[in-house]
Amino acid sequence: MKTYSTAPGSERVKDIVCNICGSALCREYLLIDSARFVKCSRCGLVYQNPQPVFDDLKRRYSEEYFNYERINEKNFFNLMRLGLKDIDFTNLTANIKKTGNTFLDIGCATGMLLESMRKEGWEVKGVEICEGSAGYGRRMRKLDIYTGTLEEANYDNDTFSVVHFSHLIEHLNDPEKFLREVYRILKADGYAVITTPNVNGFQARILRGKWRSAIPDHLYLFSKKTLYSLLKLTGFNILKTVTWGGAAKGLVPGFIKYPVDKMAKSFGFGDVMLVLINKG
Ligand SMILES: [Zn+2]
Repeated sequence: MKTYSTAPGSERVKDIVCNICGSALCREYLLIDSARFVKCSRCGLVYQNPQPVFDDLKRRYSEEYFNYERINEKNFFNLMRLGLKDIDFTNLTANIKKTGNTFLDIGCATGMLLESMRKEGWEVKGVEICEGSAGYGRRMRKLDIYTGTLEEANYDNDTFSVVHFSHLIEHLNDPEKFLREVYRILKADGYAVITTPNVNGFQARILRGKWRSAIPDHLYLFSKKTLYSLLKLTGFNILKTVTWGGAAKGLVPGFIKYPVDKMAKSFGFGDVMLVLINKG
């Protein structure tokens, strides 16, 4: 089963250059519906080119998208929790929590993670572009959620102890600009946690165009190498990486899936990766 995706329809698109190295040289990588993915000839970044312009792109995060996020909120929440457990988040942040306990979730959807973090003593804030999801979190969970982009929220320098964004960065037109903004608002002793699909993972390599993350809503498909390059370029220090998911469900029998998943995790070629970073 593929991840949710909206049909692009009549969006305006523009040609772009590589977000990491600025090169315009690229070659065809994948064609998914009307979305053309290319690979940068210089640094290997996989990205959509041309890309929908932001004003049209944001219309995808409509009422329909809110329904998808609401229906799946528990599943997504459980996956995010597992990721945080893998990096031993509670112990990791025990010290910084004494001096500052501000937690920002960007692309926070309906706010289920924020609600659970608040119970653990964090002072939580969210950013969410989908008005339906943001409104639901504000109304039902009494959360402080800004509707719009991180740049529009315009937080002060060095505001947050933890900045978390799961399955968000691959949806953005300009991940470099976004990461520079994360850097600006993150405290000197703070952490940022990124989760995104891994285009070099086992599933992506085998399934290619049928991979669940190869969808028009994903403007970038990072590998560990390209994500690390972008993080270093924007000043971050990489502390830890975890990957999950080896064999696709239904693709292989269960007795193979379990060991393959375990191996994918041990050797870092899982379908999804989580990277823990701080200010270098
Ligand atoms: Zn490049």
